[in-house]
Amino acid sequence: MIPVLSAFFFVGQRCSRHVANSFRTAILTVPDAQNCSVTKPLIRSLSNWASTFGYAGEPAASSGTRHAVGLFGRPELTRPEDWQRLADETEDRCDMLLAEVLDTAPEDGVEVVALIDEMSDQLCRTYDAAECCRNVHSDPRWRAAAGKVCVQLGEYISRVNHHEGMYQRLSGALAAYESSLAALEKRETPRLGPRQLAGWCRESVMVAHKLKQDMEQAGVHLSSESHRARVAELAAANGHFGAAFNTALTDPSKVGRVRIALGRSASLEPSNVAALMVSEPDEQVRKKIYMAAGKSPACNQHLLEDMVATRWELARVQGYPSYAALRMAGGSLARTPGAVVAFLEQLAADVRPMAEQELQALRRLKAASSDPSPSGATIHAWDVEYYAARARQLLITSQPSAVLRYTVVPSVLTGIRHLLWRVFRMEWRISEAAPGEGWAPGVLRCEVEHPELGPLGVVYLDLGDRPGKYPTAVTFPITCGREVPPTRGGGGRQLPVMALLASASGTCPTTGKPAMSYRELRVLLHELGHCCHNLLSRTKYQHLWGTRCAQDIVEVPSHLFEYFASDPRVMAVLARDRSATAAGADGAMEDGEPLPEGLLKELVAGRSVTAALELQQQLVLSLVDQWMFGEQPPGGPYAEVNASVGTPEGTSARATTISEIWRQAVDVASSVPYVQGTSPELRVGHLTIYGGAYYGYVYARCLAAQLWRLTGLAEAPLDPVAGNLVRERLLGPGGSLEPLDLLAGLAIGRAAGTSLGSTSDPAAAAAAAATAAGATPGAVAVAARQRRLEPWQVARLRQRGLDKALASPAEGGFLQALQGGFAPRSEPYLELIRAGRGGA
Ligand SMILES: [Zn+2]
Repeated sequence: MIPVLSAFFFVGQRCSRHVANSFRTAILTVPDAQNCSVTKPLIRSLSNWASTFGYAGEPAASSGTRHAVGLFGRPELTRPEDWQRLADETEDRCDMLLAEVLDTAPEDGVEVVALIDEMSDQLCRTYDAAECCRNVHSDPRWRAAAGKVCVQLGEYISRVNHHEGMYQRLSGALAAYESSLAALEKRETPRLGPRQLAGWCRESVMVAHKLKQDMEQAGVHLSSESHRARVAELAAANGHFGAAFNTALTDPSKVGRVRIALGRSASLEPSNVAALMVSEPDEQVRKKIYMAAGKSPACNQHLLEDMVATRWELARVQGYPSYAALRMAGGSLARTPGAVVAFLEQLAADVRPMAEQELQALRRLKAASSDPSPSGATIHAWDVEYYAARARQLLITSQPSAVLRYTVVPSVLTGIRHLLWRVFRMEWRISEAAPGEGWAPGVLRCEVEHPELGPLGVVYLDLGDRPGKYPTAVTFPITCGREVPPTRGGGGRQLPVMALLASASGTCPTTGKPAMSYRELRVLLHELGHCCHNLLSRTKYQHLWGTRCAQDIVEVPSHLFEYFASDPRVMAVLARDRSATAAGADGAMEDGEPLPEGLLKELVAGRSVTAALELQQQLVLSLVDQWMFGEQPPGGPYAEVNASVGTPEGTSARATTISEIWRQAVDVASSVPYVQGTSPELRVGHLTIYGGAYYGYVYARCLAAQLWRLTGLAEAPLDPVAGNLVRERLLGPGGSLEPLDLLAGLAIGRAAGTSLGSTSDPAAAAAAAATAAGATPGAVAVAARQRRLEPWQVARLRQRGLDKALASPAEGGFLQALQGGFAPRSEPYLELIRAGRGGA
């Protein structure tokens, strides 16, 4: 999801895909009981126009010519009761796989990795599908049945995470492999034979390490029984605090109301507060709402305190210096919280002059307003959104509905098909879902193919508006992609399946058809970035598939896709008034009339009017997140505050401290001062969800701005050569490369003409990479045959990429080494803000 620029300090950036994902990594996490029901007043289905436009020449579902195929195209899911049977069968299959794991000798250890990945896949295929169903299905019986199964499988996953026998087989397998490598180096006889050694490829080693680490985060490796029990207890408590915190935010009785005038009161629900901060003209009323919202819901104070303490202990018991360090150990570009904080503080200093300029413009608006404020032209926290909206109104002179002529849903989908074909050679064939296949009227089924890679997978698109629909744009994985081992299903690839939900809340003024606002179009592109990451990922194991990559890389493709929305050449493909063309939705790329460039300029400028202030807001959230869950600087804010601040009556010392952390983050990163007497942290659900990983969004913005240039997309956004580079080096590898290697691979650039990651032909990729590393022809042949690189070849390639990625900015370097980790350089992103194109 793209951030909503509203309610200045209350709204963070949260991608729903990421949230959904983070709760479902099998062999890792127990599900969260998130409740996401928001009612919308308008019922509108896309089924009418979908059949009218006759997607892909398929007959409409209503004609009865397509057979019912089960939910998500699975014949085993035709009634809500099927969930229970499916969950039970999944557990049975996993029990059998577990028995096989326990029967495998350490010498055949790579088979242990394959079996555990298979087990994880079996669990994900049911758990992810149920997680999606319980959130999106329009029928409450389906939602309830799927929700029950999520709880059941969550408990099963937790038991598997703590299975000592499985952990021992896995660590034994890895130890046998690693000791054999060490023996070979010393010219001694290795424990594993040549065939057993050859079974291990780079990806197998990586998956083995990650699985082991995941299990260790559940405490399975701890020697003392009491420590293991304590970790389980803390993990359960952590989940509870997060769920309770977020539930309170949507509970009207907990968030409360504020009396703003005689006979007038307002609900303090976050969405209502956000709306009033933009629209309420009376400053005193805005201030009253802001102050009241800054103290509610009061119950979140102790939930947050307890969560901070729980996570701290959870990390310490497992030997990490902080919770953020524990999260980063799972694979990250940043590597250390210190690198993150240094980066955030530097960026905060760099963006401040731009933010001050934006603030100056808002001050002028306030001073010129007809109703002079008693507080003068000072911009307070409760003024920012109000005057930012006025500034946007001044910039966008066209009617808000002007864009809707060009963003009618079928026409946008036609544009997307053209765009994805031109850039990535992906062919999207769109039809209506068969009866029972979708979860609501109007769900579309997109089958995606590539001329060389073959079928890529299926994306279900849900753009309709209806009461109770999932409240934000989101991508749910339903089936992961992976190679199917020849021994288990005959080889080939398991094709991924996803659900993409977004909205089209507008109506075309001329045709009356559903249409997207500019923001909704941008959000759709963001989610498509996640889908394409998954569709084009070519990993061997599902554990490393697509968006199952590092926490500070996962948002990079989606942010890169957002840039398509500000480029006039792309928008001329995406946003066209095709109403007059007979071909309708499947028309040619040039059919109809493109969105006028002047209007696009206004829209882009409108989104960017307070881009620097908005970045400051993201920096405050990222810093608070690091300071609460990351390493503390010497004597850190926490300790200093504890020493210097007394405990006001009725509040605890810890709560004062967290507010104080917030105040310090505002001092460092924001041009709008902190408001004494408020506790903004009570309303930021992101703090509970990310816990030390929120910085990933700021990293992604900076990296995407770099990659937009580096890949050649900025120059030619419809160029398949640039698209190929993105596909091969950013999307294809998924999580199968360490983030630093992934970015180093991109930095080698087009010139090397090779890939460090997976391609359609791993043998060819390995041979090409070996050549690039300067291998002898013999070694190249070996690399090709074994489909893997020798360690020295990887090391040399890596060094070349690293040298380039870490070169000076003038030489195209885009990373910096900071305090034991890495961060993006932020110059290109700041340039975009300076040029009025940095809206997010
Ligand atoms: Zn996202």
